Amino acid sequence: MKIKEIHIYSHDLPVKNGPYTMANAAVWALDTTLVKLVAEDGTVGWGETCPVGPTYAEAHAQGARAALAEMARGLIGADIWPVSLNRKMAGLLNGHNYAKAAIDIAAHDLLGKHLGVNVADILGGAVTDHVPSYYATGVGAPDDIARLAKEKLEEGYPRLQVKVGGRPVEIDIETIRKVWEQIGGSGMRLAVDGNRGWTTRDALRVSRECPEIPFIMEQPCNTVQDLEKIRPQVGHGVYMDENSIDLNTVISAAGTGLVDGFGMKVTRIGGLQNMRCFRDICEARNLPHTCDDSWGGDIIAAACTQIGATVKPTLCEGVWLAAPYIEGNYDPENGIQIQGGHIQRPTGPGLGVVPDESLFGAPVASF
Ligand SMILES: [Mg+2]
Repeated sequence: MKIKEIHIYSHDLPVKNGPYTMANAAVWALDTTLVKLVAEDGTVGWGETCPVGPTYAEAHAQGARAALAEMARGLIGADIWPVSLNRKMAGLLNGHNYAKAAIDIAAHDLLGKHLGVNVADILGGAVTDHVPSYYATGVGAPDDIARLAKEKLEEGYPRLQVKVGGRPVEIDIETIRKVWEQIGGSGMRLAVDGNRGWTTRDALRVSRECPEIPFIMEQPCNTVQDLEKIRPQVGHGVYMDENSIDLNTVISAAGTGLVDGFGMKVTRIGGLQNMRCFRDICEARNLPHTCDDSWGGDIIAAACTQIGATVKPTLCEGVWLAAPYIEGNYDPENGIQIQGGHIQRPTGPGLGVVPDESLFGAPVASF
């Protein structure tokens, strides 16, 4: 089946109770990009990509739309089957995974609707319809974050991620200790996410000063070289997030034992086809990982939930969604929500969500 039309939309997502803070950024509103693919038989598929501001990754909203426009004409008439579509995109534009992901996700949605199966089935089959999520705190005062940790534990989240960095490391250490006082012994797992913001000096100090707290360090420092440097010296597990920009990097990091797991973003790796490959590489090396995206509405949330539902349960570190920070849903009936720290997977065909496209206004480009 071939692509007949491609429509690109821009949509504003304000941050509820904003800003959302990380070591290198504070964001009040995000500009998300939606893609609607229409096949020759009229079946429609939706994709989405939403960089969390222009400094989190080498990605920005207008860049996504420019890359999509660059590829769009060449994709009219292309087959929607994911492997061939990804090869086609590679032949039209080098890199720009985060833009290609929107097309890839839309193709999976369309394919599912065409075949009458959901996207998790296309990706190998769901092992659960009750997908674990995790809560990510912003960077905040130690007592505030500890209070939030207790609240999220009581809500039923199986895992907490505490954001750190961009301030004196003593405050980060105090935050980790106060959070652990609240959740230690509860079974709730803890990740400390530096979002590239610590120096190697800071990362080594935190690990040395908190030897009794079993957190994992997620992307503590900026580069792969930084991770190589701290790796033999820290007592905590190390996960790679922002540095895992493509499958090649993942293969090296997994194959050399550089990391103990990954925080993975569906759009950064290029969409669901690459995410499926990433999942299988991790399973072969017994490496836990998340299935997230940096931001986005129901389409991204559904894509993350569908792939998250297929991950071997012992390796699934959860699906993070921006949903708690966003007002409303694109799909008024089956919009994705987190309840009790888990996500109910939509089981309808394709992604299982159908956006009310009147929310997005007129397309910014149509091909
Ligand atoms: Mg992270």
